[in-house]
Amino acid sequence: MSSKLNNFDMVIFGATGDLAMRKLLPCLYQAHAAGLLHPEGRILGVSRSQFDTAQFLAKVETDSKIHVKQNLTEELWASFIARIQYLTVDVNTPANFEELAKAVKARTQTDNVVIYLSTAPKFFAPACENLANVGLNADNVRIVLEKPLGTDLASSQQINSDVAKFFKEEQIYRIDHYLGKESLQNLLPLRFGNVFFEQVWNKDFVKSVQITIAEKLGIEERGEFYDITGALRDMVQNHIMQMLCFVAMEQPKSLSADDVRDEKLKVVSSLKPMTSADVDKNVIRAQYTESGEQKGYLQEHNVPAESRTETYVAIRAEIDTPRWQGVPFYLRTGKRMAARSAEIVLNFKEQANNIFGTAPNRLVISLQPEETVSLKMYVKQVGSNTATEATEMVLDMGKVSDDRRAEAYELLLREVIDGKLALFNRRDELEKAWEWVMPILENWAVSPVAPHGYAASSWGPEAARELLARDGNLWLEEQN
Ligand code: NAP
Repeated sequence: MSSKLNNFDMVIFGATGDLAMRKLLPCLYQAHAAGLLHPEGRILGVSRSQFDTAQFLAKVETDSKIHVKQNLTEELWASFIARIQYLTVDVNTPANFEELAKAVKARTQTDNVVIYLSTAPKFFAPACENLANVGLNADNVRIVLEKPLGTDLASSQQINSDVAKFFKEEQIYRIDHYLGKESLQNLLPLRFGNVFFEQVWNKDFVKSVQITIAEKLGIEERGEFYDITGALRDMVQNHIMQMLCFVAMEQPKSLSADDVRDEKLKVVSSLKPMTSADVDKNVIRAQYTESGEQKGYLQEHNVPAESRTETYVAIRAEIDTPRWQGVPFYLRTGKRMAARSAEIVLNFKEQANNIFGTAPNRLVISLQPEETVSLKMYVKQVGSNTATEATEMVLDMGKVSDDRRAEAYELLLREVIDGKLALFNRRDELEKAWEWVMPILENWAVSPVAPHGYAASSWGPEAARELLARDGNLWLEEQN
């Protein structure tokens, strides 16, 4: 075992919850099984339930173990759960925090304490205050905040201010699991470590950029949550914004957390602000409608019949920087789409004086379901001197290395333990992103125009096709 691994105490609030059971504990197991956790690192699950450690471990056995995807053996599992203890802590009960502080401080070595708030954001303020009251906000403590961090700019500012009363910015780790995806991180070396990409990554060569997160699933049983959230808040303000930052940012001065985050902030700050008229013109909201066996959004459980919540959004955005002036960035996300995918597409401009008459090149960076980078190119047709045919040069990230590829949450948990902030959002970035989406939310709140419809399992509404057609562009699935 490497002596470089940092010892840690990880306190997980919401330890009995869905996220902890489905992601956090299985991902910690995977890091453990790969030998990437310090042997003495300890996990302290806390929540309201009156369990003792044995009862909690019984729940972990039934609810969490089934979600381990890699490297599960009984021996490793036994050594993993030996790290886990449980303590009942109600966020609103200060006395429980005395117990918590005792449990954490009982360790001989508590130089690296991570407190993961995997609970609803309304608990962040009381949790932080109670933690501070027992000294669990000292410099050796890091606090991890799960999304959603607010539902608009004001609520996001409120949460950030509440937490900032007790924790310094460099102690705060705001999770966006997209930042834990290898294929998103790969964009920086791809762009800045390869001479040929960086040269053409700008308005002189790129005609348009598309960013898509499409889900095949509908809202399932989450109608109550989804109807007050919608696609813009659920996906655009956070995940799509991160993808946009990585594709559009300038090269950071270094790979330090603040240099990277400074450049991301510049991208979000350079997004052209939208007036209400811009929203009418450049933003499409839609809901999936019944198709075949599949229900429409308005027929889903716990969705009001008159709901206007969008299950799909497409936005034509522009970034006002010398690199990107005039290049449309089309951002879209939807539920009940034709396929599951997360991808970034760079459509290049036509080449001047092209004696072969080939169509423009296209680069597709796929984050899911496959992790690939594919460049559409043209080559000579066999047997002809003049004819060409299109082909794809594909880099399959899964095959680049035999090394195990960690899930996003595992990677992020290890980054927190190591005190590395680069893959977490800084307050200013997050609030700028909210600032940019606010005119859309404000316009929709009063707009007399109902959302468009799109058939369940299709690629979205006709209006989104028209949004691109206006500029002479097509969504990826309609391109050759
Ligand atoms: P959940 O299943 O509803 O679990 C909530 C947890 O909070 C439970 O462990 C519950 O403990 C605990 N809790 C509730 N009231 C408490 C109190 N007063 N004091 C202490 N603990 C309390 O929620 P979740 O799905 O795990 O989500 C947790 C957070 O992560 C939410 O903010 C959610 O938006 C976010 N998130 C979840 C997912 C996901 O896939 N689930 C994905 C992204 C983000 P008891 O059971 O003991 O009452």
